[in-house]
Amino acid sequence: MSFKSDIEIAQEAKMQDIREIAKKLGFTEDDIDLYGKYKAKVDYNVLKKSESKEAKMILVTAINPTPAGEGKTTTTIGTADALSRLGKNTIVALREPSLGPVFGVKGGAAGGGYAQVVPMEDINLHFTGDLHAIGAANNLLAAMLDNHIHQGNALDVDVRRIVWRRAVDMNDRQLRKITNGLGGKGNGVPREDGFDITVASEVMAAFCLSSDIVDLKDKLAKIIVAYNRKGEPVTAGQINAQGAMAALLKDALKPNLVQTLEGTPAFIHGGPFANIAHGCNSLMATKMARHFADYVVTEAGFGADLGAEKFLDIKCRQAGFKPDAVIIVATVRALKHNGGVAKADLNNENLEALEAGLPNLLKHVENITQVFGLPAVVAINKFPFDTEAELALVEEKCKELGVNVALSDVWAKGGEGGEDLAREVIRLIDENETEFKYTYEDSMSIKEKIEAIATKIYGADGVDYTGKVEKEIANLEKLGFGNLPICMAKTQYSLTDDPKKLGRPTGFKITASDITISAGAGFIVVSTGDIMKMPGLPKVPSAEKIDVDENGVISGLF
Ligand code: ADP
Ligand code: MG
Repeated sequence: MSFKSDIEIAQEAKMQDIREIAKKLGFTEDDIDLYGKYKAKVDYNVLKKSESKEAKMILVTAINPTPAGEGKTTTTIGTADALSRLGKNTIVALREPSLGPVFGVKGGAAGGGYAQVVPMEDINLHFTGDLHAIGAANNLLAAMLDNHIHQGNALDVDVRRIVWRRAVDMNDRQLRKITNGLGGKGNGVPREDGFDITVASEVMAAFCLSSDIVDLKDKLAKIIVAYNRKGEPVTAGQINAQGAMAALLKDALKPNLVQTLEGTPAFIHGGPFANIAHGCNSLMATKMARHFADYVVTEAGFGADLGAEKFLDIKCRQAGFKPDAVIIVATVRALKHNGGVAKADLNNENLEALEAGLPNLLKHVENITQVFGLPAVVAINKFPFDTEAELALVEEKCKELGVNVALSDVWAKGGEGGEDLAREVIRLIDENETEFKYTYEDSMSIKEKIEAIATKIYGADGVDYTGKVEKEIANLEKLGFGNLPICMAKTQYSLTDDPKKLGRPTGFKITASDITISAGAGFIVVSTGDIMKMPGLPKVPSAEKIDVDENGVISGLF
């Protein structure tokens, strides 16, 4: 089988002038800053202009994936286009891509096939510069901190306990651990340092959870950059960095407006990591989308055990909203993968393995419907190699178990291929009285919160803590951070903390091996296993295939 690549499909699209898309939403030319013909930033003041429509919100999440991704972004965009086709005033809200994955293994993050946001080349490369602004704000803070130490260190910063790192939006393993400040007295104080990829910066997480620029400044001031020699936190506020950092982010904080291939308005804004951060687009953009549409479709990163949990327990708690329905994306290949099939054999029909992988899907459905009390529908994202028998089996088994299910063919057909799914979503929203609950309450102790996530969401028997983590939990509670929500950093490939344990494992515990505080973003990060904050490039990076011709036309992005 041969198919057009994502970029070929995107380049064939006839895009509308972004002013037309803006007009559809009721924005005037004064409300938007144009970034060329097809991209605009929307002024926050539009929120004051009209009454909020408080759109129905649809969260798209997925089962534990294969490394290739199961099509959450594709399904999010396709569902939005399907809702538009059904006459619903819809906006899609997504994260903005990072250059790391674009040049690495995964490729872009603008959807796929006939369910994409455009201009996909721009969205995937630089876009409106938000990530660079966030990197600049991160690095301003780093420069001010090192300068503070160089200029006499009035705050008595312990140079062995600096936790603030530098950032760049690139997969560059060479920068993970560095020594800087070398060269003698005039050239700074020598110390160990390192870079994280920009999307892993706490500035990104704080940016994405801010309700406005004043709130952003407040969050930036709370960022802990180091500890002093008494062991007390030193914050960005004490370095007086928050004002200039927020000034750098003034335009970045305005949501970016683009369109889908079918002309549905799309806000693509903010893109925090889904492991050490919460993994969904900015609160500003979601708020704006809910204000101007009747339906908002949005995505949370990774599988539902991580992405949806954090969307609901962190972002929704912070924003005071909740989704009205949840789409859980499943693919035949991920089900077979969870049923034990090796990567090379995923394109061959295997009904037995498919059935063996279903418990993984069911656990995620149970989590959404029973733990969170939200209506859920499984979207089977149809791939070209899926057989009729396989697709029928998933549908039949879901129905047997009382799970709402719809086949989605948006990758091949765009919005038309998502109409069944969209109708099911509308039905769920119209019929259901939701009784939304969080996994845990803020007031619980740090350990109780971690254990609630592990037992209720992952199906674990409990949590083991390393000695270092035990000590730090006590310290964080003493410092007054005990009531913050928990951001779990765990492998996305398993419900456990071991990426090889597929399906729906039982009889396991997870190990909390590290705990850190993101006081600016407003959560406590608990890690299970090694979490990479600066990825590297693979042996043959996708960057080697990307090119641009004499007319400025880009190729090789996918
Ligand atoms: P996620 O958001 O879950 O990581 P994406 O929507 O980005 O996944 O999709 C990952 C990749 O899989 C993209 O390259 C996309 O084009 C491709 N893809 C998604 N759905 C399908 C499908 N139904 N058939 C073929 N390829 C698909
Ligand atoms: Mg995605």
